[in-house]
Amino acid sequence: MDLGLKGKWALVGGASKGLGFGCAQSLAREGVNVVIVARGAEALDAAASELRKLGTTILTVAADITTPAGREAIWSVAGGPGQNFDIVVTNAGGPPPGDFRNWERDDWIKAVDANMLTPIELIKATVDGMAARGFGRIVNITSSAVKAPIDILGLSNGARTGLTGFVAGVARTQKLAGNNVTINNLLPGKFDTDRLATTHKAAAEKTGKSVNDIRGVQQAQIPAGRFGNPQEFGDTCAFLCSAQASYITGQNILTDGGAYAGTF
Ligand code: NAP
Repeated sequence: MDLGLKGKWALVGGASKGLGFGCAQSLAREGVNVVIVARGAEALDAAASELRKLGTTILTVAADITTPAGREAIWSVAGGPGQNFDIVVTNAGGPPPGDFRNWERDDWIKAVDANMLTPIELIKATVDGMAARGFGRIVNITSSAVKAPIDILGLSNGARTGLTGFVAGVARTQKLAGNNVTINNLLPGKFDTDRLATTHKAAAEKTGKSVNDIRGVQQAQIPAGRFGNPQEFGDTCAFLCSAQASYITGQNILTDGGAYAGTF
């Protein structure tokens, strides 16, 4: 299926590896030019070299997307205050796990800044230009924890649910939905990325079990019997960005191999 995206411009946050890279890769494969963002320049350049093999224009911005200065750097590369993107995939690292009793105001502000206010700032800077041009796709990478909260991920549960509520309202405005601008959230379950590897390593150190044992136990709890891979996540993202997906907006799409056990 041709997704109707050739020649469009996308911004993908947190894209030097993991889920963000998967999204950038699937979009580039569909002929989309992509601006990729991450803090570490070396990994970002390596990711860009890989993506350029797919034949589209790939620009890099080595910056912290959760800061105003980082976002200014993105807009300057894009040739204006965010008005030139057809597609925006919002993504950055998730907040650390912990016990809410130990979190101070600053911990909360940091999580809300990164996982709620940054996507909102990116949406604010881009959707009106998209609406004026009659095409726009925003995909926010959130987490399955929005639907099935995990106690130690309280910072993530809280901040991302705030974003989800905001999106539920703004996506349904006529100015956006009526001008072919959609906003959806993509909720990963467990995906095989560096982030997951880091949590497995920490669990192995804490429990004395091997990383392989921990992976095995976790995969057995997923009906699909495996972790997801960033490529299939990226392909779902590309479909949500497609011309064909113009009637899907304000949704929370779970990609978790069946791990979430609810009917809705
Ligand atoms: P990952 O493999 O660790 O990759 C994260 C990417 O984001 C890297 O390119 C990283 O590069 C970049 N990044 C992090 N903080 C950034 C910032 N402030 N500004 C710009 N770039 C930033 O993580 P992932 O597994 O792909 O996870 C992506 C998102 O999905 C996270 O929010 C995570 O919490 C969420 N999630 C993941 C899973 C999973 O199973 N993998 C499950 C649920 C939710 P630099 O460090 O160089 O900046």
